[in-house]
Amino acid sequence: MSKVRKSTVAGIVCGILLIVACVVIANMGNHDKSANPGPAKYIFLFIGDGMGATHVAAAESYLSYLEGERGLEQVSFTKFPVLGMASTYSADKNITCSSAAGTAISCGEKTNNGMLGITPDGDTLTSIALELKEKGYKIGIMSSVPVNHATPAAFYGHNASRHDYYGITKEIPASGYDFFAGSGFLDYAGKDGDRTGSEELLENEGYTVCFGNEEYEEALRNGAERIVLCQEEYKGTEVPSYVTGKESDTTIGSAEMMKKCLDFLGDEKPFFIMYEQGEIDWCAHDNKTMPMIEAVLKLDDAVETALEFYKKHPDETLILVTADHETGGITLGATGTRAEVNLHWEELDSAWIASGHLNTMKEDENRKLNDSAFIGWTTHGHTGGPVPVYAIGAGAERFGGRYDNTDIKGKILGE
Ligand SMILES: [Zn+2]
Repeated sequence: MSKVRKSTVAGIVCGILLIVACVVIANMGNHDKSANPGPAKYIFLFIGDGMGATHVAAAESYLSYLEGERGLEQVSFTKFPVLGMASTYSADKNITCSSAAGTAISCGEKTNNGMLGITPDGDTLTSIALELKEKGYKIGIMSSVPVNHATPAAFYGHNASRHDYYGITKEIPASGYDFFAGSGFLDYAGKDGDRTGSEELLENEGYTVCFGNEEYEEALRNGAERIVLCQEEYKGTEVPSYVTGKESDTTIGSAEMMKKCLDFLGDEKPFFIMYEQGEIDWCAHDNKTMPMIEAVLKLDDAVETALEFYKKHPDETLILVTADHETGGITLGATGTRAEVNLHWEELDSAWIASGHLNTMKEDENRKLNDSAFIGWTTHGHTGGPVPVYAIGAGAERFGGRYDNTDIKGKILGE
């Protein structure tokens, strides 16, 4: 661009800014409430990591199969009255990763893949959770996967690398949020295992870290004010970065975890809860259809718990269910299927039962199973399409239509 054209553009931009400034000043006197309704009192933001519309459709098709039907069965959130679509690309790639998409949702700004809570230039961004905390909201940041994984971290962390797990854990206390939950910690004692353990690290900074129900009950009896609740089996140890499958006897399930968070936060003060279901993405990376569906249904269990709360406070509660991106490119129909072919859920289901609901199937065996059931997967990575946003409750109408994932923050805040 020539210097002359640059200065012309600059002149036009200045002119536009002047007009905008005049309009803003002219409107300052008559700011009515409907133009800026603000955030709902109680906000639930569910993120199904990697959950595209077809992951949800697969879960519903499977539920229908269990009822001896072709369709009809629905998860709770596809019954929500408002449906929108959010684009997901990141600042530097058509196909986002969870940290860039989490940052877009949380901070309302695009960043590069791999970055967390900062701009591509390294400037610190402000999470919606922090903004709401400063407005007096209680904050719960929950995940089915590690507390310091990309999606929950996008609500409290600022790091050039989503893989600096120990550095991300160290940011938890500065957030001041009330309730964290996850499976446990990645890099529990640092990358080389020679640093202060995550539990001690956080307890030195005023958080009570509980592994399992017993420790949690004890923390409540002791009047703990800030909690990090993890699964019992990961006490004092590294969470394997990829665990999916059957829950153990001591696992705190998704609905119970949500219930605990709600009891802890109470309903006296306003709150913001982000709940991530992370195994949807992990199973989709592996193209494992049934474990992925089970993960969607676990998300649905947590949403159901939020819906029970919503029914008690319908005018003050907003529930959103969305995704950071789609993973795996799943299709219902594959390998040259035509309209007259049915999906063979019975094959997937019986293999899943035979495995004891454990995600252990070898890759080639898994591919054969998907092929014979006519479930298609196009990649082991993420895809770049838009994701659905399901909304119900106070301010839900703002989430209809097509927008960008960076718009979600402003829509929640009702700006
Ligand atoms: Zn992923």
